[in-house]
Amino acid sequence: MILDFDPDSSARCPDCGEVKPLAAFPRAAARKNGRGLYCSPCFALRYRQHRERKAAKEGRTIRPQRTAPDGFAYCPDCQELKPLEDFPRNRSTSTGRGNYCKPCHNVRGRENRILRHGSTRDYHLRRRYGLTSEDVDRMVEEQGGLCAICQEREPKHVDHDHVTGSVRGVLCSCCNQALGNARDRPDILRAAIDYLERTTWTRERVCMGVYRLTSPHRAAPSRSSSELQHLISSRRG
Ligand SMILES: [Zn+2]
Ligand SMILES: [Zn+2]
Ligand SMILES: [Zn+2]
Ligand SMILES: [Zn+2]
Repeated sequence: MILDFDPDSSARCPDCGEVKPLAAFPRAAARKNGRGLYCSPCFALRYRQHRERKAAKEGRTIRPQRTAPDGFAYCPDCQELKPLEDFPRNRSTSTGRGNYCKPCHNVRGRENRILRHGSTRDYHLRRRYGLTSEDVDRMVEEQGGLCAICQEREPKHVDHDHVTGSVRGVLCSCCNQALGNARDRPDILRAAIDYLERTTWTRERVCMGVYRLTSPHRAAPSRSSSELQHLISSRRG
């Protein structure tokens, strides 16, 4: 085969058939001339087709790459044109910004955490409470599979002492919120029980349709305590 070019300075790309200077071929240390077999555009095309085939096999689609005006970039994930400030700083890239916009970057971070730690739940359990999801499963089991407070609902929230950081138990959303709303204070919760059971204030009927709040500390409730007990238990039922 007679070469119509100098193989030391150029090569023919088998895809496009063009003779191009070696600089137009991607670097490939393993090859004799130090350059790849296909010219850079053809190599990019092949690489892209390879990725598309791979993506199709995995049921994904690859979005086309687009060029953006100065000061802007396309996020390959959300496909939006955004100002560079919307991309996280990254010293290792040529633009000084990451490839994905901040929201997409965060989603990817979450996905990576799932890959590294099993799930975001596992990750946060470990980071916040030093627990594994197995530890929590065991706690839930010890609670009979129910919320540690109401013993009625599914426990979903790891509750911890905000002062000491120690884990107290696993609660349902309602009970977890109830504690938070009472600022984790037993005195408020006790007062709330007192209030609910009407040991402090009793609605007293003055006459038809007219009621007055009375306190047993100021005036004896108009109902006997057995009457009250009956009222309380009927309300619970
Ligand atoms: Zn080519
Ligand atoms: Zn994005
Ligand atoms: Zn509960
Ligand atoms: Zn209050």
